[in-house]
Amino acid sequence: MIPGDGIGPELAEATRRVLDASGIEFEWETVDAGEAVIAEYGTPLPEHVLESIRRNKVALKGPITTPVGEGFRSVNVTLRQTLGLYANVRPARSIQGLETRYDDVDLVIVRENTEDLYAGIEHMVGPDAAESIKIITRYASERIARYAFEYAVANDRQKVTAVHKANIMKLSDGLFLESCRTVAADYDGRVEFEDRIVDNMCMQLVQKPDLYDVLVLPNLYGDIVSDLCAGLVGGLGVAPGANIGTEAAVFEPVHGSAPKYAGQDKANPTALILSGALMLRHLGHPDAAERVERALRAVIAKGETLTYDLGGSAGTRAFADAVIERLRNVDDAVAAASAPAVSG
Ligand code: NAD
Repeated sequence: MIPGDGIGPELAEATRRVLDASGIEFEWETVDAGEAVIAEYGTPLPEHVLESIRRNKVALKGPITTPVGEGFRSVNVTLRQTLGLYANVRPARSIQGLETRYDDVDLVIVRENTEDLYAGIEHMVGPDAAESIKIITRYASERIARYAFEYAVANDRQKVTAVHKANIMKLSDGLFLESCRTVAADYDGRVEFEDRIVDNMCMQLVQKPDLYDVLVLPNLYGDIVSDLCAGLVGGLGVAPGANIGTEAAVFEPVHGSAPKYAGQDKANPTALILSGALMLRHLGHPDAAERVERALRAVIAKGETLTYDLGGSAGTRAFADAVIERLRNVDDAVAAASAPAVSG
């Protein structure tokens, strides 16, 4: 567990309590990264944090602040690149009871996580101009496309849409699109494939999200479009994510550290709890994941214990308490239903 900065520690505490009530016995190893450790280690991402993730092969991570424009490189980007967490998977699914424009959104964003403009290669050209280098490789593009198609097959999804701007960036985005097409040919007849230009895609998602299923995107478009999709289903407070690699996986919400709400017991832990449910599935506990998701959805549908962003006034802790109570009640109901009837 990496609690993170800002609202991270309180969300991590709430999430840990919910996951501990899921019926799975966790042995948590908590390590700190972010602003709080810079003074002690001279870096926001000390080596022992990376070592812990490599050893455990799985981590649940709160948000970490990245100062804009100067200072340390993003811990989040460094983590993904150092550990080779090449696939950023961000599901966006409507939750009953939340007032949003649509009530049947069910999208999965598969974002390439290691290159594109996030490679961090920038320089000044004289004092008044700056260049950022956008890196797109066939290797990483085919790898993420294959991940998206395999995800579609494993999760009974019908269609993969590749999102790009190949009409303008003919070489870089052109290569991404070509790579997606190459991989799509291997799934012909099993998973439908199409592509969209990113600006049109944004409009289509706002107007007709039901036309789409799994989206595969290069890093930057994936980041932006996943916030758009979070907005379709209730906002950043409810949008989970997974960073998957071959050696490790790090589960974290789409949202950041929301410093203005830090320490106020206000922020919504749903996104981190749902990230925990994604982790449970990854660890081979789909039943426990399902229980957590159901309990959380039931609390939101009931509408009595909601955090501020969902229109309520409950705190982080009270929301987690309600989810835990629901988990326990459902478990009790299942136990009662399956207990042998007492006769005579
Ligand atoms: P943010 O996601 O932290 O917050 C934007 C707004 O969304 C907040 O002001 C709040 O209104 C709302 N919000 C976000 N999470 C919420 C929650 N759990 N419950 C209720 N409301 C919530 O985005 P930002 O302000 O642009 O970024 C703050 C910091 O977080 C920056 O330093 C940024 O670099 C960092 N960040 C980190 C990650 C990560 O750790 N993966 C992701 C995005 C941003």
